[in-house]
Amino acid sequence: MHVVHVAAEALPFVKVGGLADVLGSLPRALAASGVRSTVLLPRYREIAEPLEPLGEVAYRCCGGVRRARVWGAGTSGVAYRFLEVDRDWTAPYEPPEDARYLAFTLAAAAWIETERPDLVHAHDWHAAYVVRRARRPSVFTIHNLAFQGELEPDRFERLTGEAPEADLLHEGRVNLMKGALLAADRVTTVSPRYAREIQTPAYGMGLDAVLRGIRGKLSGILNGLDTEYWNPATDGFLPQKYDADHLERKRRNRMTLLASLRLDPGLPAVGAVTRLTWQKGFDLVLEVLPRILDLGVNFVLLGTGEAELERGFAEAARRYPRRVAFHAAFDEARAHRIYGGADYFLMPSRYEPCGLAQMIAMRYGTPPIARATGGLADTVEDGGTGVLFEEASGEGVLAGVRRILELDAETLARAGMARDFSWGRRAQAYRELYEEAVS
Ligand code: ADP
Repeated sequence: MHVVHVAAEALPFVKVGGLADVLGSLPRALAASGVRSTVLLPRYREIAEPLEPLGEVAYRCCGGVRRARVWGAGTSGVAYRFLEVDRDWTAPYEPPEDARYLAFTLAAAAWIETERPDLVHAHDWHAAYVVRRARRPSVFTIHNLAFQGELEPDRFERLTGEAPEADLLHEGRVNLMKGALLAADRVTTVSPRYAREIQTPAYGMGLDAVLRGIRGKLSGILNGLDTEYWNPATDGFLPQKYDADHLERKRRNRMTLLASLRLDPGLPAVGAVTRLTWQKGFDLVLEVLPRILDLGVNFVLLGTGEAELERGFAEAARRYPRRVAFHAAFDEARAHRIYGGADYFLMPSRYEPCGLAQMIAMRYGTPPIARATGGLADTVEDGGTGVLFEEASGEGVLAGVRRILELDAETLARAGMARDFSWGRRAQAYRELYEEAVS
């Protein structure tokens, strides 16, 4: 079987967020299980890797015929193709996004027409329109329901040269994500629980009724981790590498971490590595931080995002210099040292389609304290590998921290380290879904 993935970003070429991790690892895992995979991306100018020119593809757009140059590269058994629809397009999500991704998906559909793969797998709204235009069996995956690709109907008509079909409209505007949800043979999201949650008004971002209407073809498949990269036994960022039989080395990592941050060496550390946005719930942590510290823990946070949250945590670190450390940066090395040195890992998300950080934490023997939602609820076993709390509130967070301190940390750590977070079975689930979709 030959599957063409269409997406806005993929490692190792271009990364903004978690989508790039998935597109960098799922096609490789699929290739290993016998699914031939091609990844189709826009040709952004910032892509530094050498690309091979592979000719051109003609596509219809704006009432005329345009040409996109096609570039290629290949790594680890996966072919990458890049479509150059705009020479000035430097990086993902640069405006005008609607015009650029519509042109990209129209060119992608034309390229797919000539290539005739067995199936097209489109990811998020940037790739959504290809589902309607490629005329191949298709799977559409929701990684982030918050962004749906909305534009005014007359603008859509100007950009594509066609009036929008009725089922592309949502509350009077074109909604590219909705268009793909209705047209795809199968729709997935990145955890089973999130697939159920998004059918409710609280999580549906305005599309819950549409999602309820397609529930027969909607399912959830968890993302896998790149378990070679995220491995405490080989992780070069850690002062001490370790496995489940050598947790005393992890304790030495804790001492190094606490000493480097001048925190209280006699208390355990609750760590977090996160974007600081409403989704992630760290405003709730800030509400009750003094009471969390009263439970007898240090708090170590690495994260960037909303200015108000950054200010709040910087202020807390000034106020409690021996108990709170905060770094407002994106820092890969520091992230590894928190996963490998903290005693617990905090993830109080309001919603979480899948979440990678809690899986990394468990793999590093750092039991998560996580909100019982989406992929967190599907990957953390409450009382087994960590703690899940129900309420998205300061009291909820506090109750979670209190509860994990009553459990035996080493038992939780070992149980988490024994779990399989690799792509293996999860890639297999995609393969089975592809087989259903083409049959
Ligand atoms: P999301 O994709 O919603 O941000 P995930 O938990 O799925 O959340 O993935 C987040 C990834 O980004 C993890 O690998 C995490 O370690 C990493 N990350 C987040 N913030 C930072 C940061 N400030 N520095 C380093 N890595 C970070």
